[in-house]
Amino acid sequence: MEFQTSELTEQVAQSARDFARQHIKPHVMLWDESQTFPLQVFKELGKAGMMGVLVPEAYGGSGLGYFEYVTIIQEIARVCGSIGLSVAAHNSLCTGHIMTFGTEEQKKKYLPLLASAEMIGAWGLTEPNTGSDAGNMKCVAVQEGSDWVINGTKSWITHGISGDVAVVICRTGAAGTRDNATAFIVERGTPGFSGGKKENKLGMRASETAEMIFDNCRLPDSARMGAVGDGFKQAMKVLDGGRISIAALSLGIAKGAYDAALQYAKERHQFGQPIANFQGISFKLADMATEIMAAELLTMQAADMKNKKMSMTKEAAMAKYYASEVAVKTANDAVQIFGGYGYTKDFPVEKFYRDAKLCTIGEGTSEIQKIVIAREALKA
Ligand SMILES: Cc1cc2nc3c(=O)[nH]c(=O)nc-3n(C[C@H](O)[C@H](O)[C@H](O)COP(=O)(O)OP(=O)(O)OC[C@H]3O[C@@H](n4cnc5c(N)ncnc54)[C@H](O)[C@@H]3O)c2cc1C
Repeated sequence: MEFQTSELTEQVAQSARDFARQHIKPHVMLWDESQTFPLQVFKELGKAGMMGVLVPEAYGGSGLGYFEYVTIIQEIARVCGSIGLSVAAHNSLCTGHIMTFGTEEQKKKYLPLLASAEMIGAWGLTEPNTGSDAGNMKCVAVQEGSDWVINGTKSWITHGISGDVAVVICRTGAAGTRDNATAFIVERGTPGFSGGKKENKLGMRASETAEMIFDNCRLPDSARMGAVGDGFKQAMKVLDGGRISIAALSLGIAKGAYDAALQYAKERHQFGQPIANFQGISFKLADMATEIMAAELLTMQAADMKNKKMSMTKEAAMAKYYASEVAVKTANDAVQIFGGYGYTKDFPVEKFYRDAKLCTIGEGTSEIQKIVIAREALKA
């Protein structure tokens, strides 16, 4: 495995850092407090090539690889986890699904619009009663002549209201049978498709999370992606890539919290000396630095395998599981290092603490990652 960063990765990191400093940092707390989804920022990210990072240039994207993608998500999340989450969901889930499984016609139609952020993407797998157990979905698509009619609700969907186009995975076969789901592309404005309740969340508050409701929503067969019955398998493949982006999101949050804690530990004096002089504090910083490095190596390993088109289900799950737990622990310790000040909104660590928790839940909880890792390990 070769993880040495290239000049290109460095340039991409600098652009993402500059973007985050200029367009995101000044507004982070305002968006968080008011739970504003800042659409204009995503349009600007589109102009900067960060909304179609992996999309080939022939379809209007940046044509970059997973090292650059992971770098962009990290640099944005270092400043704001919410924006990092939305960029990850747009790139990996909706765009990634169409890029991997769309027909040539679907790719030509949607990828340029998604890459430029003229369209914001959403991806719907989860339902009110089926999260980890997504294969048991109740949202159905029934074939009527050459059309499909969708009924049901998808919940917890990033950009469920503001998404201009969504990939939705629906049950098309009998409940409880194998290969009973199919993926469709649905555009906002299609009769019978609407956004529902917006969630009021602990963290990631500037990333919109909402229901998508389907009430006799009729789609032509040309909206179907891949073969009837392949939807769940497609979704699992999309999630393999998506989990690398959640590992990157976790890393960005962990690094943001660590940077803040490191600086504070040097500046804050108690008992006549910087608190960094106390072993109780410096050992926390040592653990944070070590665990962040380990999480980064796991993430880069999965990214490297993805770049090489190798099977990386286990490695993506390991990276996502470990990095997300590290983000939660690092943010928790960062608040502790800040003491009472860490418990206020005047310093950035309380937001890292709230945002980090999503990383152990979204795109498969830590428990589900362990199931995936164990299953892959036991196959060997
Ligand atoms: C901010 C946010 C954004 C999201 N964005 C999207 C999106 O864009 N698209 C989308 O489709 N979904 C999205 N989700 C949904 C997310 O993927 C689910 O929340 C997640 O998969 C967990 O499902 P659940 O919430 O129903 O929890 P449940 O599946 O009900 O799990 C509850 C608890 O039980 C545990 N558990 C469940 N099954 C097992 C088992 N077999 N063994 C051990 N423990 C188990 C879980 O680990 C968890 O601790 C988002 C969620 C959030 C919070």
